[in-house]
Amino acid sequence: MYLSEEDKRAILRAADEIIAQGGRTLLAKILKGSREKKVLQLGLDKCPVYGYFKSEKIEEVMNKIDWMIDYDFLDIQYDGKLPMIIFTERGWQIEANQRADEFLREWKQWLKQGNSSPDMSYLKDRNREMILLFLEKVKETTDKRYIPYLTAWSKVDYKKVKARIYEVIKALEENETINHQQVLKREASVNEALEGAAPQDLLLKCYKCGERFTFSVGEQKFYKQKGFVLPRSCEKCRDRRYEDFLC
Ligand SMILES: [Zn+2]
Repeated sequence: MYLSEEDKRAILRAADEIIAQGGRTLLAKILKGSREKKVLQLGLDKCPVYGYFKSEKIEEVMNKIDWMIDYDFLDIQYDGKLPMIIFTERGWQIEANQRADEFLREWKQWLKQGNSSPDMSYLKDRNREMILLFLEKVKETTDKRYIPYLTAWSKVDYKKVKARIYEVIKALEENETINHQQVLKREASVNEALEGAAPQDLLLKCYKCGERFTFSVGEQKFYKQKGFVLPRSCEKCRDRRYEDFLC
């Protein structure tokens, strides 16, 4: 299977809508552009990548999502018996960055349209890390026209974010120089993350006999789907335990 950078970004963007609240199937439905009641009720048809894979079969979309799980962009976490999609560190790094870019694009659009008093409450209660990254990107524009937006935002958000907003306003007012090295480093890091990590056999240590044993890619996949934790003993010791049980 081959996923382009754009495909990977689209899957991560869709996952962001349902993170820790929905599973693979729901994620596939967003990307397929399903008209199912649940999808519409949750407003998932408003997601910018809704229907991104609309010309593909749902099974194919599921395969792409599984590929994203295998390559360390997404993971499965069990909420009771329900397997939910979550971001891996890699996946979140990419998504937080593109989400911050998405917010900035929206602000740019507002400037063009002459929207002078937008309601900023939509920025409240978002992931803090992503919000701080967005603020960093606003600062990096060195565009003073964003100051009114920042001021309006500072009025509705909490202390910590508020403090950072004031710092960004100050930086824009004082024409603070941008650390381009840092910007490039961040971009390079995201591009590197986008490559993903191919699944690999793991070498684990048996807690009974102390020997190393291979936990294959296939086994890892099976364990993940079932929501099992890593095996602690090697196959031999596991068989022995089973024999003991039979006697
Ligand atoms: Zn063993």
